[in-house]
This record gives sequence, structure tokens and C-alpha cells, in this order.
Amino acid sequence: MINISIREMSEMLQTKKISVQELCSLYYDRARAFNEQTNALITLYPELCAAEIMHAQETVKSGGSVLAGIPLVHKDLFCTKGKKTTCASRMLENFISPYDATVVKKLKTQGMVTLGKANMDEFAMGSSNEHSAFGIVNNPWSHQRVPGGSSGGSAAAVAARMVPVATGTDTGGSIRQPAAFCGITGIKPSYGRVSRYGMVAFASSLDQGGVLAPSADDCALVLSAMTGHDALDSTSANQPQWQWRKPESPDMRGLKVGVISSWIDSLQDEGIKQLTLQGIEYFKNNGAEIIEIELPHAELAVSAYYILAPAECSSNLSRFDGVRFGHQTAQAENLEALYRQSRSEGFGEEVQKRIMIGTWALSSGYYDAYYLQAQKVRRMISDDFKQAFAQVDVMACPVSPELAFKQGEKSDGVSMYQADQFTIPASLAGLPCLSMPIGFSQGLPVGLQLIGNYFDEQTILSIADKYQQQTDHHLKMPEAYL
Ligand code: GLN
Repeated sequence: MINISIREMSEMLQTKKISVQELCSLYYDRARAFNEQTNALITLYPELCAAEIMHAQETVKSGGSVLAGIPLVHKDLFCTKGKKTTCASRMLENFISPYDATVVKKLKTQGMVTLGKANMDEFAMGSSNEHSAFGIVNNPWSHQRVPGGSSGGSAAAVAARMVPVATGTDTGGSIRQPAAFCGITGIKPSYGRVSRYGMVAFASSLDQGGVLAPSADDCALVLSAMTGHDALDSTSANQPQWQWRKPESPDMRGLKVGVISSWIDSLQDEGIKQLTLQGIEYFKNNGAEIIEIELPHAELAVSAYYILAPAECSSNLSRFDGVRFGHQTAQAENLEALYRQSRSEGFGEEVQKRIMIGTWALSSGYYDAYYLQAQKVRRMISDDFKQAFAQVDVMACPVSPELAFKQGEKSDGVSMYQADQFTIPASLAGLPCLSMPIGFSQGLPVGLQLIGNYFDEQTILSIADKYQQQTDHHLKMPEAYL
């Protein structure tokens, strides 16, 4: 029951094999039972919301949305009206959102039932979920290892089936990398596809909301409901709601898949390398044409990103000053001390580091040398992708150069930053991309990344769905949570 698809759950609700209350309670009990081991949730609501259950049950009765009655958790940076939204930071520890994020509202309207809020790296900065003010998240496949980040709580919660689906956000890889580390599917849509209204900003030109769930079909169903233009977000794309068309057969004839051999060759981990090659081989065996492509400037992506993202974060996070927003220090001698102490107490180390890097990169004298250069690199990377997509429909590449690493293993920031080398390029270009499970190495899950052209979520999700029609990696669960 806990390892079935959203479509199957919906079918059971429609045919009255189970009620919304029963389905949600089943997951709620698992979430409560497993949160101690995983620490995947910052907030588990004290009980199921009666109004949400009622709305869901009515939606089911009227034959409405396939999502009606499906429980979920939101990454704790989506505002949830009347409820805490902490961003895993002491700064917002007691912040109660005055309104719902557009994503939250849309999914609520469909009849989805929110069980709580998922743990994450503070303000979505990190690749391991070790930077949360509310504790490290444990990877359900191996508790001493990280679940990836920053949407690590969302990924761990789904991997342990504490919920069938969770929202996440991806700025430089934060949906794809934790999905890969936890053996589930995760999609970051095109920039602008999903409204950022009510999603606390880290780097506004990169942040994008998305979904983590076992299968591509589950992800697609939820993503579809999240999309559409939003007048409340000026960067929301002027596109109608995206409609998912589930493919009928696994046939991939006519599909052109781009492969970047230099990325695969660079993999030090033999297990990841072999599984990546096997995944590509699978596409070929199902009729796809494999085409070698190059992204000559992608190797500069990590450097450019770690100028641009901190620059934007230094600006976005300036509002948390203890006066307008966020934690205020208990005692300060004067105004400057008030700002300094409030921010020193409220922000964790990684966030403070990035604010400083960003402020520095934007300061006069350094702006031209760093920020402007990084923007130029960003454009060159986008152009590389444009040229590649003139030849192919999709690209297949690794998500992460390594398996889920041990907690505490990457204490220096730079080696953690390098972990994002395969996810950041598509983020800088604003392209839709996903990670899907392709097997296990040393007992740990491995993901394959698919990158699509602008607003072509359909193609990457279709390929993943076709693959999942014939494989079962996405259905594997960690033993301790069966
Ligand atoms: N790991 C990257 C970072 O630390 C990406 C984070 C994200 O996508 N939110 O910035």
C-alpha cells in the first residue's frame, strides 16, 4: 500500500477501497514513526487538518483531481498560511506565514493534504542537508550518510515513504542531487514554469520549485498542477498550465539523446560510470539515437554559480535584519549592534559566508571583475546549450560525481561546491531537468540526469516514464522502512 503510485492511490480512493482519512493517517503514522531516525521533517503537524481532509474527500466524490486525498510535505521554504516556515534557520524559527505560496495554494485546491514541512539546508544553501539549524537529515539508505541537499528532507521523506510525494526547490541541483542520493525521481522544471510567489528566495534568477516522488509519472501529475502563469510573480513565464501526457509505450524511436562523453569519462566512481553508460545503452536499445555533444563552457559553471548565487543571496537576505524580518537579538547597545547581533545569531555559518562573498562580489571595484564576468559565463553556457539543442531533443548525463557521502566528510566548502558540477550548468541556463534512479552501487542509489529544452518538461518526463515502465529501480525501498 505504501509503495504504490499516485494513480493507484487515486483509484483506490475513487472505488472506496480506502478513504482519504485512512490513506492520510497511514502516511501520517509513518511520518511520525520515522521522523526520529530520518529527521526529514522540521514540522509534523499535530494532527491531520480536518478541513483539508473534508475538501479532499469531496473532491474525490465529485470525481475531481487525481491528486485529491494524496498527502504531501512541503520543503520548509514554501509559505504555509498560519503555519511555521523556518527555512531551516534560527532567523525564521518562529515565523508564521501570513499567506500560502502559490504552489501550496494550487496543490491544496486539488485536494492534496499537507502533513508538515520538510527539513532542508538553511535557506537552501548546501548539498548535504548538514546546514540545517534543526539538525542533519539521515539518508534512509544508510543513516550515517547525507541525503543530499538542499531538499534533503523532502527526498528522505519520500525515500522512507513517510509521504508519497514532496515539493522541493532547485537553485543549482537541490532537487536532482537529493533525489539521486535517495533513490527517487525529482524534477526541476524550466525557470518560470512554477510560481516563486511565497517561496522564500535564495537566488531569484535560479530558484525554481519542483517535485520529488518515486516515479516520473507521480512527479508529472503533481508538477502539472503546480504550473501556470502567476500574476503575483513577475518572473513567472507567460505559459498556460502544463498538461502531462503519459506515454503509452516504452518505444524511443526518433528520439535524439545527447551525451557529453567528457563528463562520463571524468567520473572517478566506477559504479556510477557503469550505471550511467548502461542507462544510455538502454535508450539506444529502445530505438533512440545517441549523439555526442559538447558544452565547452560548462566547466566554468561552478565558479560562475558561486559568484552569482551568493550575490543574489546577499541582496535577498538583507531583509532579515531583526527589525523588518527575522530573529531579533535580546540585547543590543545601539542600532548597528542590533543588526550585527541579530544577523550573527540568526544565520548559520554557511549562510553568513555566502552573504559575505556575495556582498564583496557586488561591491564597487569587484563588480566588474567578478559579478559581470560570471554573468558573461552564464550567457556562454546558455549558448552552449542552445547549440546542443539544435542537434538533440534531450541530454543524458550524471547527476552527481559521487554516491551519497558520509556525514561530516566534506567539511571544507569547496569540495562540497564541486559536487554540483553536473547540475549547475542546466540551472544557469534555466532548463528543465530531472534525476531518475538507474540502479545501485555499493548498496547506494544512483541517479541519471535528463536535461530538456526550454519548457519541454514533457520529453524528459516521458523518457523517464518509459524507462520506469520497464525497470523497477524507482520502486526499491530501504529495508528499514519496508
Ligand atoms: N548545492 C547548491 C548550493 O549550495 C545548490 C543549492 C540549491 O539548489 N538550492 O548552492
